[in-house]
Amino acid sequence: MSFTVEEIHNALKNHEFQAFYQPQYDAVTSRIKSAEALVRWVKADGTVISPFFFVPLAEESDLITEIDWYMLEQVCRMLQKQKGTKNPVSVNFSRLHISEENFTERLSAVADSHSLPHSLIEVEITESAMVGEGDKILQWIASIRNAGFSVAIDDFGSGLSSLQFVKDVPADVLKIDKSLLSRNCEDEKERIVLESIFNFAHRLHMTTIAEGVETKEQLAFLRTCGCEKIQGYIFARPMPEDDYLALCRLHETSEEPMDILQLQSPTSAVNLLMSVIFRRYPLVIFSNLTRNTFYMMAYQNFTSTGCPSAGMFDELIVHGTSSMHPDDKDSFARTFDRNNLIKAYKSGKQEISLVTRQLGDDGIYRRVETTDYFVKSSSSEDILVITLCDNLPE
Ligand code: C2E
Ligand code: MG
Ligand code: MG
Repeated sequence: MSFTVEEIHNALKNHEFQAFYQPQYDAVTSRIKSAEALVRWVKADGTVISPFFFVPLAEESDLITEIDWYMLEQVCRMLQKQKGTKNPVSVNFSRLHISEENFTERLSAVADSHSLPHSLIEVEITESAMVGEGDKILQWIASIRNAGFSVAIDDFGSGLSSLQFVKDVPADVLKIDKSLLSRNCEDEKERIVLESIFNFAHRLHMTTIAEGVETKEQLAFLRTCGCEKIQGYIFARPMPEDDYLALCRLHETSEEPMDILQLQSPTSAVNLLMSVIFRRYPLVIFSNLTRNTFYMMAYQNFTSTGCPSAGMFDELIVHGTSSMHPDDKDSFARTFDRNNLIKAYKSGKQEISLVTRQLGDDGIYRRVETTDYFVKSSSSEDILVITLCDNLPE
């Protein structure tokens, strides 16, 4: 797919560029804390074109600066709709803005014209753009921050800049590039590099955001590094404005919920009770249907085929279905489909139970009763489910 500068120019004039929003989540509580605005070219027929196909050309022709200002305008309008929000949005600014006269004045003027606190806007500039700019970049960043906006260094680790250089950049946020994360973060050397980067950023009082987080292994490792925020498909993809607004409302209406991954340390009496439950039910799963997450509280089963211990509920059901007898696959997938469960809960059901045959490591099918108990969260509107699996006698 390739375009001409004129086509991009016309698209901008015809308001075909739209801001999509990718939420950034608190690494510990899994709550939305902020978002990044990402440009999308939405054609009249609804086709959505990724910036990958037009941003490089727009950068060659200076058009990118107009697109960036247009995006800022869209972001400010969106923020105005979120009256009183505390969630800032970051906007990507090309390196060409570094030489723009009165950049900070214009930034302030746009935010002020929408009556927005400057703290709600973050300026994102990629690491590679900073290299070779010398002191100019430091002054540019200082002036933006002096006006009350925050500044993020984007794609850290993807370019050639050194820690030596970044230590002098007075940014608020360091965004760790996805290229530094392998799928499972298992490599010892990779871990050492990442731990050092987080340590370095924290010692310089920068907030860290990991970009492109896709797997629960990455998430678990990033949590141990003290990474503050997560942006990645594991939580959400970039989405249109209306979807982002709806998602924020959902998060705002519920109290700060206890992260299901933190529910592992109940008091001793509850612990004892749990150990009895685990004796009776070899498989106990705690899920949040609203947020599409699960946490396996106990897992001793006759199938050891690596089921993840935490992750997305939808994937858990796909995994479960794969180990069922061919004749039971359909009913299992249908019964425990997340949307069907939510419907059942809304229609007043308290629990749902199904007996299926599941394949063991020894190649033998055993009868298993899976029961989902709906429970209401005390702190939010989320629909929770506790799943107990029971091995039935033959
Ligand atoms: P970026 O600023 O580093 O944005 C992050 C990119 O990573 C986005 O791609 C996002 O969709 C993608 N991403 C997020 N989570 C994941 C994940 O879990 N896995 C994978 N594989 N990818 C993930 P997108 O939206 O295609 O944007 C690409 C680049 O285009 C941006 O990289 C940014 O450099 C540029 N760009 C986007 N919007 C603008 C804009 O308004 N102005 C300027 N100047 N550049 C922009
Ligand atoms: Mg960015
Ligand atoms: Mg990035």
